[in-house]
Amino acid sequence: MYKQDNRLAVRGTYIHAPKLGEIEVVESALIVVGAAGAVEQILLPDDPSFEANCRAAKDAGHYVQLRENQYLLPGLVDLHVHAPQWPQAGRALRVPLEQWLQQYTFPLEARYSDIEFAQCVYQSLVNTLLANGTTTALYFASIHLESSLLLAQICLESGQRALVGKVSMDNPEQCPDYYREQSTSAGLATTEAFICGVKSLPNNQLSMVRPVVTPRFIPSCTDEMLLGLGQIANQHDCHVQTHCSESEWEHQYVLDRFGKSDTECLADMGLANGKSVFAHANFVSDEDMTIIHEAAVGIAHCPMSNIYFANSVFPTRKALNTGINVGLGTDIAGGPSPSLLFNCQMATSMSRILESGVDPTLRDSVRGVADSRLTFQEAFWMATAGGGAALGENIGVFKPGYCFDAIVVDFNVEHSNIANWPELENADEQLEKIIYNANRQNIVRVWVNGQTVVDRASSR
Ligand SMILES: [Zn+2]
Repeated sequence: MYKQDNRLAVRGTYIHAPKLGEIEVVESALIVVGAAGAVEQILLPDDPSFEANCRAAKDAGHYVQLRENQYLLPGLVDLHVHAPQWPQAGRALRVPLEQWLQQYTFPLEARYSDIEFAQCVYQSLVNTLLANGTTTALYFASIHLESSLLLAQICLESGQRALVGKVSMDNPEQCPDYYREQSTSAGLATTEAFICGVKSLPNNQLSMVRPVVTPRFIPSCTDEMLLGLGQIANQHDCHVQTHCSESEWEHQYVLDRFGKSDTECLADMGLANGKSVFAHANFVSDEDMTIIHEAAVGIAHCPMSNIYFANSVFPTRKALNTGINVGLGTDIAGGPSPSLLFNCQMATSMSRILESGVDPTLRDSVRGVADSRLTFQEAFWMATAGGGAALGENIGVFKPGYCFDAIVVDFNVEHSNIANWPELENADEQLEKIIYNANRQNIVRVWVNGQTVVDRASSR
């Protein structure tokens, strides 16, 4: 997939969310992308160099003009995906988290010692996410070095921007014998080998795929493992991902073991910094939110998964008001859908449920949590710019210097669930319709770093 020259010029209407809660629509723009895949300039038709840039791009054979009813959006950023769980997406959602892990998830993840099985599943998942417009994904792999490296390689070859973690879990009290690091020291050594392996993958010069230090969550790790991983993350200047205060059981387990919260523990272990992403965080306290904000940790909000496994709705409004960079995660397979657009819709819906409450036997004044609702504009920000900010990457917005990761949404494809009525609606409302009803067939083209990674015939 690696190309030396990613130059490109795309002409059309783009919609993005450069600031939380605000949508910007720019019609008839020309986005000029440089050889390294970053946006060089954004021109409007009244710019004196507009036509000359169009002509130059046409002559060089890298000019793309969007058609009527097509919109350019930033690529979507999925902050929480368990790649080995893809085969069970949509299954076993009826049991609580700890049973789901022990009975279904750990036996499935243990299979990734089989490299052929891993190849088949991981390629299927990466193809599916790209087709759904996910240009960047933050992945948990499994405990296996070889297949975790394979996932990184598949992302690289498929052209997806990815951050991949080999999962660390060594606590014999919480991890089954068949799915656990051989020892703490072996687990730490494997993590270092994984980091070096990803960094030295052929054609990874642009660091399109990065390694991530990945303690599964505090219960599955010994103190020595957590401390060791904090040191490794620091030494290698790596991203960190883990689950944080996801469920009441898990949150209480950490309080019982350490006498403090997940957030406080992770900070003590050197695992909470500007390159960390905590998944879920449903049960964090106000003090935890302050720690998360001050440490510049990002949060992966996974609205669908939270309904099934956290039994609560993450107080997203409160986190955003605190100034935390919150992005969205599908949490495959705790969340059953690979679509981030669907998770945008769920983020707004769940926030409304949190605000209004759901028990009709209670008076409406006490049924919900006031001021919890999110707008579709905020959900879209989380799925794009917010995810980019949580990772500290220049992605999720159309802006000079930012990577050109983008999708084309087409209202006019066959069997579309969205239709355009220009005389009745403005572009903001068209984005709202995209979020609520577009699906993968409407996503006709996907670029990552200026390279085409999905191109359906209807876009031509
Ligand atoms: Zn998860």
